[in-house]
Amino acid sequence: PLTAGIVGLPNVGKSTLFNAITKAGAEAANYPFATIDPNVGVVEVPDYRLTRLTELVTPKKTIPTTFEFTDIAGIVKGASKGEGLGNKFLANIRQVDAICHVVRCFEDDNIIHVEGKVDPISDIETINLELVLADLESVEKRYTRVSKIARTKDKEAVAELAVLDKIKPVLEEGKSARSIEFNEDEEKIVRSLFLLTTKPVLYVANVSEDQVADTENDELVNQVRKFAEEEKAEVIVICARIEEEIAELEDEEKELFLEELGIKESGLDKLIRSTYNLLGLGTYFTAGVQEVRAWTFKKGMKAPQTAGIIHSDFERGFIRAETISYEDFDKYESEQAAKEAGRMRSEGKEYVVKDGDILLFRFNV
Ligand code: GDP
Repeated sequence: PLTAGIVGLPNVGKSTLFNAITKAGAEAANYPFATIDPNVGVVEVPDYRLTRLTELVTPKKTIPTTFEFTDIAGIVKGASKGEGLGNKFLANIRQVDAICHVVRCFEDDNIIHVEGKVDPISDIETINLELVLADLESVEKRYTRVSKIARTKDKEAVAELAVLDKIKPVLEEGKSARSIEFNEDEEKIVRSLFLLTTKPVLYVANVSEDQVADTENDELVNQVRKFAEEEKAEVIVICARIEEEIAELEDEEKELFLEELGIKESGLDKLIRSTYNLLGLGTYFTAGVQEVRAWTFKKGMKAPQTAGIIHSDFERGFIRAETISYEDFDKYESEQAAKEAGRMRSEGKEYVVKDGDILLFRFNV
């Protein structure tokens, strides 16, 4: 399964946030693999569509879809040179599909800041620089090897060299490679380089209990917003301490608590949804009287592949997918009614599944 890594300097609130994630997390009994690794937290993806489908279909069971967060501890200045847990940190980050970068925006004299003062941009740059340096090392190694082959006019090597030529100067400036625009062919080469600074990133501004009600005009948060804008990255504002408290509440209590705080959605729910999008994921549903269930697919997948997420037999014997869009299901209020209105489509092997589709797979066994 895809996973998002939580990174950040020490004392910014990573553990607090990760605690909130595991407390709010999906029932351990359903996801035994998550209990094996204490650094992995499985979260259920909040989705109003699943709630609505449950109301309409009244199934015996409703199952949300999930994905994982991995807590990646141990970054300090000099990590790319192996300081602290540097090498382990970089190896762990290489394995994640997206990065949630937690940034301290809360002032608290009781909590020591590793660099002496709260300065979100300098914090971000400290970590990004370690990742940039690690990438630069990979790129330089690759460059030496590929430039030799490119002299023989080998087509692939020439193409790769051109990509490396695009990336290297950006890294040398201390900037992340994700800011570079690549075409489709270049993308393929970039993926094969397994760089750290091309991974999609989302910044999590961790604010204090006093700041959380009004973050629009928060100076520190705005600094993060401005930085993120340049990288075309998203910013989620949370108060990790409050999230930890919310995570322990039952649904009803949670709603009341959020109302008191004057917020609609918990920061964690927002974070989960944004990270899910960042990973390029979408949700389709199966809706039967036994079970209404949300399934995660990678956007761009065709119907047989998405069927294979449920069971490999579904993919192998795929015939077609009876498809109703969520909007139509919501409007006509049942599969039968949507079908009678001509809103159930029979889609074949080439159909690219859309976020929100309600699917019924036909297959040969
Ligand atoms: P980590 O080193 O990044 O994992 O940071 P921790 O989660 O251990 O947090 C460091 C300290 O900051 C702890 O004492 C937390 O209680 C505190 N802290 C974390 N989040 C918040 C927050 O939202 N508000 C306040 N006031 N303190 C926080």
